[in-house]
Amino acid sequence: MQTTPNANRKHIAIYGNTNSGKSSLLNAMVGQEVSLVSHVKGTTTDPVTKPMELIPFGAVVFIDTAGLNDTSELGEIRVKRSRKVLQRTDFAIYVMDGNEEDVISYEKTLHDFRKYNIPHMTVINKMDTLSAEELQALKAKHKNAIFVSSLKEQNILQLKDELIRRLSIGEVEETIIGDLVPANGKVILVVPVDSEAPKGRVILPQVQVLRDCLDHGIKSYVVRDSELASALEDMGKVDLVVTDSQAFHAVNQMVPSDIPLTGFSILYARYKGDLQALVDGVRQVENLQENAHILIAESCSHNHSHEDIGRVKIPKLLQAYTGKQLQFTFQMGHDFPEELSAYDMIIHCGSCMLNKKVMQTRIDTSLEEGVPITNYGVILAYMNRMLDRSLEIFQK
Ligand code: SF4
Repeated sequence: MQTTPNANRKHIAIYGNTNSGKSSLLNAMVGQEVSLVSHVKGTTTDPVTKPMELIPFGAVVFIDTAGLNDTSELGEIRVKRSRKVLQRTDFAIYVMDGNEEDVISYEKTLHDFRKYNIPHMTVINKMDTLSAEELQALKAKHKNAIFVSSLKEQNILQLKDELIRRLSIGEVEETIIGDLVPANGKVILVVPVDSEAPKGRVILPQVQVLRDCLDHGIKSYVVRDSELASALEDMGKVDLVVTDSQAFHAVNQMVPSDIPLTGFSILYARYKGDLQALVDGVRQVENLQENAHILIAESCSHNHSHEDIGRVKIPKLLQAYTGKQLQFTFQMGHDFPEELSAYDMIIHCGSCMLNKKVMQTRIDTSLEEGVPITNYGVILAYMNRMLDRSLEIFQK
């Protein structure tokens, strides 16, 4: 993979009414035709995504959504899809046509931004078609808005600068492992290569942890579980062992108790979501009743090894652990149910293909509906009675 995965890019979504110029604004900002521009209302159907480097901020992905005021039959589906984008939006741009200030639609969308905790900015488009008086009146009303003409490419650079400034506010560097192990420290990454491992490659969470070690000057040794014992001898003092959750039991026995041990999915529970919420969620396993309904959510549909963990191993282990017959529903792919109250617990994968915002929204929604949520690594550590050990590294 030669580019930053979309899951690691800031998601900037462009909202606004149909024909306010969202698509032409995106095209002007990225300097190429990404979205189809038409004067016919409702031309943008599915949200269009465009990854780019927003220098000097970094990797972002722009999402051009359909108009939120489309009342046609097809429009309802488009609006629904655009609203779903809210769940993964890190920053929103609301585009308003300076000639059609639709206050109701604007306020409704700002309400959604607040609901999903999305920082945002307002862009008033088509300034080239406004008289000096109209421009002045709008400026008085929308003091923080940026006025542009996407058609004439007026103020596009100013808009980009302001976007970078606002994106950078409160921005802290996210790391998977870099704050847990000192630079020059030593880590062993345990990656079992069995029949379930994908042929010829290492899965994304493992690749990303390795890259994070390199970024932070952490020396890493990548081994299979079968070579772990000799790796421990080679390395002398080790600062941390990170293992695939499926090998928790065996690895826990091999790693001396004075060496911290955790799992890739537990690192991801913190990096992509909320480790404390997912740990609190797993403790509710003790309260599961006979026939409790469990949702297993996995964010990609073609991952062989994870399919086996989610569909087979976790259900089997959980029934054995609780001694109860449980009902399982499997949700594979990017979708997540809107209605969660039917479930007694949600067990999510490590979510390496999702951006942090999506996972946080899923956690927040689950908690609002009173449904405990945890992830694969946390529950496997819990059922192997090694959760406390796998959390020690975060308490140091
Ligand atoms: S199933 Fe989840 S954790 Fe596994 S590769 Fe897919 S998104 Fe990542």
